[in-house]
Amino acid sequence: MIIKDLEFGEITVRKTKRSRAVRFSVSPSGSLRVSAPKLMPNFLIKQMLSAQRAQIKKHLGISKPAKIASTDIEKLRKQAKKELPPRVKALALQYGFKYDKLRFSTATTRWGSCSSKGTVSLNIAIINLPVELQNYVILHELVHTEHMNHSKAFWAKLESVCPGSMRLKKQIAKHRPTL
Ligand SMILES: [Zn+2]
Repeated sequence: MIIKDLEFGEITVRKTKRSRAVRFSVSPSGSLRVSAPKLMPNFLIKQMLSAQRAQIKKHLGISKPAKIASTDIEKLRKQAKKELPPRVKALALQYGFKYDKLRFSTATTRWGSCSSKGTVSLNIAIINLPVELQNYVILHELVHTEHMNHSKAFWAKLESVCPGSMRLKKQIAKHRPTL
């Protein structure tokens, strides 16, 4: 199996009966390799990869992202900067939200955030999500400009501007930003 990762590029996963644990190594060509026990599900391997990303880079001496990966991130960033500001503006206008600034992040743990000063941050990887989920993330953060918590009032407001928000919330929980 091959896992495509924006930072490490293509990662070859080899599952063998002999493997007792998940091991990361570097192939002669410099790409990342994973060996894993035969019955290890792929999502667990991906989870370990994101949990151990920093250590993998450190231990394997992969200090710089691969060339392809960084151009991919640049492409994403460009697209995010072009497409998202007008959309955020339009949604804020449509539903009467006021935010201060829009920032872009490359965090691997969250899709978006909103500071108490009203700065909305969006992960550039949301560009890879279906538009419905992109708008969910944007509206979620915009509602935080009024409710800085996940109270009942927050979810009620979100549902009023983004019908079906609970279904979308469950959907997005299945995705993680891959950068
Ligand atoms: Zn939130």
